[in-house]
Amino acid sequence: PLVLGIETSCDETGIGIVRGRTLLSNTIASSMDEHARYGGVVPEVAARAHLEALQPAIEAAVADAGIRLEDLDAVAVTSGPGLAGALMVGVGAAKALAVSLDKPLYAVNHLVGHIAADLLTGEEVEYPTVALLVSGGHTSLLLVRDLVSDVEMLGETMDDAAGEAFDKIARILGLPYPGGPEIDRVAATGNPEAIRFPRGLSRASDMATRRYDFSFSGLKTAVARWVEQHEADGVDIADVAASFREAVVDVLVTKALDACARHDVPRLLLGGGVIANRRLRDVALERAAAAGVAVRIPPLSLCTDNGAMIAALASELIRGGRPASTLDFGADSTLPVTEIQVAVSA
Ligand code: ATP
Ligand code: MG
Ligand code: FE
Repeated sequence: PLVLGIETSCDETGIGIVRGRTLLSNTIASSMDEHARYGGVVPEVAARAHLEALQPAIEAAVADAGIRLEDLDAVAVTSGPGLAGALMVGVGAAKALAVSLDKPLYAVNHLVGHIAADLLTGEEVEYPTVALLVSGGHTSLLLVRDLVSDVEMLGETMDDAAGEAFDKIARILGLPYPGGPEIDRVAATGNPEAIRFPRGLSRASDMATRRYDFSFSGLKTAVARWVEQHEADGVDIADVAASFREAVVDVLVTKALDACARHDVPRLLLGGGVIANRRLRDVALERAAAAGVAVRIPPLSLCTDNGAMIAALASELIRGGRPASTLDFGADSTLPVTEIQVAVSA
């Protein structure tokens, strides 16, 4: 099926068009620059930016894909989780588009969309897989037995998301937003073993409870305190950045591979904007190889928030014979991952 997907859960206005598992276009407009001086995404600013960016983004995606809107088989949209106001703009636009074109509408889960992104790489995808999604808004470890019917949350962050931790530490170190790329740049010349920062919730006993929740606030406090205590005699920012990054990467990879072992799943999918982190990719690949786990990392344009992954998920739902969503759904900022599609008609 030919599907147009709309994604507005955070600061990216993403419009993607797919035919089955083939990617035709993936237009992304980001309001990141507008949030820079606040040091994080401001919900109202993001919602307004979506409103302005949607129409041109749809036009660009349609032109890019070389299709006409009338040719679409369906429209897809992120219903949640995400920022309520931002989601609402996308949901409204998707309903308007579907009604005016008289096409079925599929309202889907953003996190499961991140998993569906992997279908667009052109390579064969196998399930079950463990998926680690890390971005500015989420840190989730999922067990995917079947993309359209069986996704289980193994753990998520109790406080800050991984990307958020990068952004906050960057701020402490006097680096601009977004912090991820800045920490990466500065860490390049630092010693990752200079300071042993805490690895929250990653002892064997933490994971033995069968939950894989994450916590980065203790690490944030530890870094802040370390910087404060050493300010007088001069802080080597490169060492702090490298040691902080190492702690985050260690926690993420340790838990993801532990989950693979416990559930006897030899596959790990990585997604979310923090995957841009070279060190995270390298450590994941290295330790996974040693553990006999195959790692999949879609191209970054499919890892960060985008509309193509939403279209790809809807396309799978259609292929699986699922009915469209009824129009009586709204934005659900805390939509659980088990709700892969919302407002399914009886
Ligand atoms: P969502 O959480 O809804 O997926 P988001 O907009 O918060 O969306 P992304 O746009 O996917 O998240 O990713 C942005 C986050 O990724 C920011 O927190 C940023 O600091 C982080 N990031 C980007 N590059 C890197 C990097 N090289 N290393 C670590 N973190 C990075
Ligand atoms: Mg973003
Ligand atoms: Fe996301």
